[in-house]
Amino acid sequence: MSIKTEFSGPGTTARAEGSDNHKPLITVRGLAKSYGSSVALGHVDFDVHKGEFLTLLGPSGSGKTTLLALIAGIILPSEGRIELAGVDISHVPPERRDIGVVFQNYALFPHMTVRDNIAFPLRFRKVDKQERAERIHQALELVQLGRLADRYPSELSGGQQQRVALARALIFNPAILLMDEPLSALDKKLREHMKVELRQIQQRLNLTIVYVTHDQDEALAMSSRIAVMREGTIQQIGSPEEIYERPNSTFIADFVGDANLLVAPITDNRNGQPQLQFAGSAFRVSAGDRFDCATVGRNATVLIRPEHVLIGEAAHSVSTRFTGRIVSATYEGNARRFEIDVAGTLLRARTQGSFSEHVLQTGETIDLGWSDQHAHLVDIHAQ
Ligand code: ADP
Ligand code: MG
Repeated sequence: MSIKTEFSGPGTTARAEGSDNHKPLITVRGLAKSYGSSVALGHVDFDVHKGEFLTLLGPSGSGKTTLLALIAGIILPSEGRIELAGVDISHVPPERRDIGVVFQNYALFPHMTVRDNIAFPLRFRKVDKQERAERIHQALELVQLGRLADRYPSELSGGQQQRVALARALIFNPAILLMDEPLSALDKKLREHMKVELRQIQQRLNLTIVYVTHDQDEALAMSSRIAVMREGTIQQIGSPEEIYERPNSTFIADFVGDANLLVAPITDNRNGQPQLQFAGSAFRVSAGDRFDCATVGRNATVLIRPEHVLIGEAAHSVSTRFTGRIVSATYEGNARRFEIDVAGTLLRARTQGSFSEHVLQTGETIDLGWSDQHAHLVDIHAQ
């Protein structure tokens, strides 16, 4: 049996896996967890589909680990329910949930070899000797640790230990894999490498993963969908593109990626395309369908990503255009960053590639602008 068929999900073990691919694999409804009067997780609702890589992204203390621990069964909910393939598992003990878990600190057994660590979950499951040997072999191959099988965790690098933890979580073909900041203890280079490797394994085996991170780059690079969390609630859930290009709040615009957040009054709203006033000029913004009533006279917050701010000659191709003064210019190898003062507001621009123009200096006056579709309306302020 190849690794692919062995680890490819339904069929290899008896479980309540829905045959209907349109039904969610995991359904979370009204899930909440409180400790006394303190709310760790508010009421959250979401689904996870088979083969999805869903990332819970949020600052420290936003409830990510609590939500993951509830799905794993390590803690029990105060309210709400969790279904796995249509079966309510809210009060099923963790070892009977068919869920694999990988934590930040690996939690390997120090007195056991790599092989024994990986084999550990099979002890609790009725897997015969021959199949056990096959699975261990395949799990070791999957994470490329075959030749290190007899070492102890203390004899492995951080990345290798993390691979052991991954193999151990996958060896019993769980319906779903939960990972809590699994790469955060690794150095930057190794983290980049593991990011790619994990995504490849996930896609190759069509794994369903719920992944926790506070690192926006990790979330954007790896996920099929991202749920942005704040203060125990899910603020927005969508594809990385949706979250990055069309955040539904100032918090998300600011938390995910680098953001210019411009606050300006709405001066017109014809044909559903609001017009705002900034630095003596009017400019149009894209509002999506979230704001059917962008009331003239109110202030709005608009997101313009620094990479969409065009400067110098490039700004002459767009109709939204201003003049500013360069406050700082930073060379970053593959990009340049500028901070530009426009009528007392600091806007950031990020340009990639080489400049045909002369190198722009601090203090210089410069044109800048952006196209309407890159000015995204994030919020309309109450009066
Ligand atoms: P994150 O993983 O996003 O950093 P957590 O889920 O760990 O956040 O925590 C969410 C909130 O719940 C925090 O305010 C935290 O202090 C609180 N919390 C978590 N676990 C407990 C606990 N066992 N007792 C009391 N409060 C807790
Ligand atoms: Mg946490």
